[in-house]
Formats: sequence, C-alpha cells, structure tokens
Amino acid sequence: MKHFEILVVGGGLAGMSAALACDKAGFKTAIIAKKPVKIDGRTTALFMPSIDFLDELGVWEKIKDQTSALKTMRILDSTNRLIRSRPASFPSSEIGLEAFGYNFPNHPLLEALYAQMDETEIEIIDSFASDYSEDADQAIVTLDNGESVSATHILASDGRNSLIRQKVDISANMWGYKQKAIVLTFAHKFSHQNISTEFHTEKGPFTQVPLPGKRSSLVWAIKDDEEDYFLNLPKSELNMLVEQGLHSTLGPAEIDSDLQCFPLSSLIATRFGKGHVMLIGEAAHAFPPIGAQGLNLGLRDVMTAIECLTAHRNAPIQAAQSYDRKRRADIHTRTFGIDMFNRTLLTSFLPVQLIRSGAISAISSIAPLRQFVMRQGALPGVPKEKQSA
Ligand SMILES: Cc1cc2nc3c(=O)[nH]c(=O)nc-3n(C[C@H](O)[C@H](O)[C@H](O)COP(=O)(O)OP(=O)(O)OC[C@H]3O[C@@H](n4cnc5c(N)ncnc54)[C@H](O)[C@@H]3O)c2cc1C
Repeated sequence: MKHFEILVVGGGLAGMSAALACDKAGFKTAIIAKKPVKIDGRTTALFMPSIDFLDELGVWEKIKDQTSALKTMRILDSTNRLIRSRPASFPSSEIGLEAFGYNFPNHPLLEALYAQMDETEIEIIDSFASDYSEDADQAIVTLDNGESVSATHILASDGRNSLIRQKVDISANMWGYKQKAIVLTFAHKFSHQNISTEFHTEKGPFTQVPLPGKRSSLVWAIKDDEEDYFLNLPKSELNMLVEQGLHSTLGPAEIDSDLQCFPLSSLIATRFGKGHVMLIGEAAHAFPPIGAQGLNLGLRDVMTAIECLTAHRNAPIQAAQSYDRKRRADIHTRTFGIDMFNRTLLTSFLPVQLIRSGAISAISSIAPLRQFVMRQGALPGVPKEKQSA
C-alpha cells in the first residue's frame, strides 16, 4: 500500500488548490480526483488574498487572461416592497485597492489547476474514495477499484456530501431555502466598467459579475419549482429577462452559454478537524452565492491547513485539533451571516425589511462603516502590507 504524508480526497477547486499548496510546502502529497464529465459553467469571484494564493501556487499566470477585475461592487434593492434600501456602492479605490479581486470562469480555473499539477510531484489517483478508517498512526482510504492508500494527514475536500466527514463521524447541519440559481454568461452592449452589481430581489440575488470584454456572468436566484419554466424559455425571452433584471444598465443582453441550475442550501460541519482529518471547502461549509464568499472561504481553509500541517507535521491528531480551533470563527461568521442575509431577502416580514434596509442604507452612507465592511468582505486576514495596491 502506498503511503503519503498528505492525501487530499476530492478534486474540486478547493481540493486541487489544497494539493498544490501541500506540495509547495514540501509534503509528499497525493490527491484522489476524477476529472468531472460535466463542465462547470459557473464563474467565481475571488478576492485579492485568494488571487495572491493562486499566484504563489503558479496558477494565476495560467489563467489571468480569462479573468476580469472587480473594481466596484454594488448592491441595488430590486424588490417591489414597501421598504427598500438605498443603493450601496463599494469602490475598491476607497480602501486603497486597485481591485477587490477577479472573476474566474470555473472550468478554465480547474484546467489551470490540473496543468499546474504536471509541474509537481503530486500523485493524482484517478478514482473515488469508497471507505475510510484510521488508527493512531495513519489513515487508510479505500478506492472504488478496491485498492487502498494510507496517509498521515487527510484533507477531505469531497464536497457537501463528504464521505470522509461521515466516516470520521463529524455530523453536519444542513438546511435548504426552496431556491435555485440559474447561471449563464452573456454579452452586453455597454461596458461593465469592472463593476459587479448584486440586485436583491424577493427570490434572492440576481448578480452580474464582469468577464473580459463586454461580457458578464449572471447568478439568478429563482424559486425551486421554476427551473423547468426558465430553462425552457426561448433564448430571445431569456435575453429580455436578463436585460430587465439588470434594469437595462448594460443595454441589450445576448446569452452566449448554456443555462445551468444549482439548488441553494447551507451546510456547516459541527467541527472542522478530527482524528487525521481536516475538512476543506464545501465538505465543511456551504451557503447561497451572496457576496462571493464560498471558495474564498475554502481557500482560507487551505491556507490554515498548511499552517497546522507545518506546525504538527508528524502529529496528525494535534494538527486536526488546531485546525478545528483556528477555522471556527471565520466559518461560523460567514455561514450564518450569509444565511441571515439570504433570509432577509426572502421574508416579507416588515420589521426584518426595516432592519435590512436600515443596515444597507447605513453602510452606504457612513464612510468609515462602509470601509470597515469592505475590508471584512474582501480582505479578511490579509496582512496590512498586501492591502494597498
Ligand atoms: C451559483 C454559485 C455561484 C458561486 N459563486 C461564487 C463566487 O463568486 N465566489 C466564491 O468564492 N464562491 C462562489 N461559489 C461557491 C463555490 O463555487 C464553492 O465554494 C466551490 O465550488 C466549492 O468547491 P469544493 O472543491 O469545496 O467542492 P466541490 O466543487 O463540490 O468539489 C468536491 C469534489 O470532490 C469530489 N468527490 C466527491 N466525493 C468523492 C469521493 N468519495 N472520492 C473522491 N472524490 C469525491 C467531487 O467529484 C468533486 O470533484 C458559488 C456557488 C454557487 C452554487
């Protein structure tokens, strides 16, 4: 049986980044990863700390031409409710940044991560994990071809239904919202000027994020029983709905991708490290796509995991315990913060509407508060010297 210091289980964006980071930190690393058959049509907005991290891994250079800078983030209340919040605009220049980050198409990002693997010693095991066990010295993962691999540390990045999380007996709280998100990309007449706008509707966010040229991606929240209706509409009607949803801010829209649909739900594990295992990315946490937080949080998991692995190289139980402690605050605040915000959009309960609109209006009009929120949203944990452009 082959033995590795670190075995990453799951080759999504978080797992692939984790494997590269472990290799870079000098660990003998393997990853259990099967290339997805279906192309992920989503794009992901990543903030500067995540970009710096991908840069250190050698990935940024491979993909930067396909990304677009995010210089201003806007929130516009697009509900028809009695109480609506004022528009809020967050320019990155206000906190001394040239851009908050960049928007990446997911599929090319995954391809870039795979390409970077070729330049490392990482062993890619083209399989699925089917079982897991551990004793004091090592963890053993059984593969779906019946073979087994052992490792000192396991980074479980096998997504929301994580097998490893279940096998190591970490429970998770999961809840849904009766919402789905349609994702697509589209061309538009006017320049987006590197502005991303999150329109808040009664069904959730309707978020345009810039791509290179006069193109953008869209995350469009719908009710969970509306998927068939929207996916079967003629393109011309969808183009019109996209333009209307954006209040014609970018002019006529021309959808240039397939439409994909994702159910929206939240998940938080009751702990993030146990035994030989550290939970990474959606194996540990998931929430609706508001404020572009999911993968940014997942990459911060990876950064902390590397710290703990380095400090406790031959002591997996201590490494996992330390990781659990260090990740708690960040994961809890993001998961419950986004959950609460999403709920305030869905409810028609007047007092909640008042609080939401009051909070957004305050953030939009009080400069120090706005700057604080911008730093919290986009720059958690970034060393001061990296915060200015
Ligand atoms: C519509 C939408 C828009 C989003 N936009 C943003 C954004 O702008 N910014 C942002 O930061 N985040 C965003 N997110 C969140 C982001 O997409 C996720 O956080 C991220 O994709 C999760 O990656 P992951 O690697 O943790 O999980 P996954 O992508 O689910 O990867 C898990 C991997 O593990 C594999 N796997 C599962 N079981 C096994 C097994 N037993 N053995 C081996 N492998 C296994 C799977 O095949 C998969 O490859 C968005 C999410 C949605 C739904």
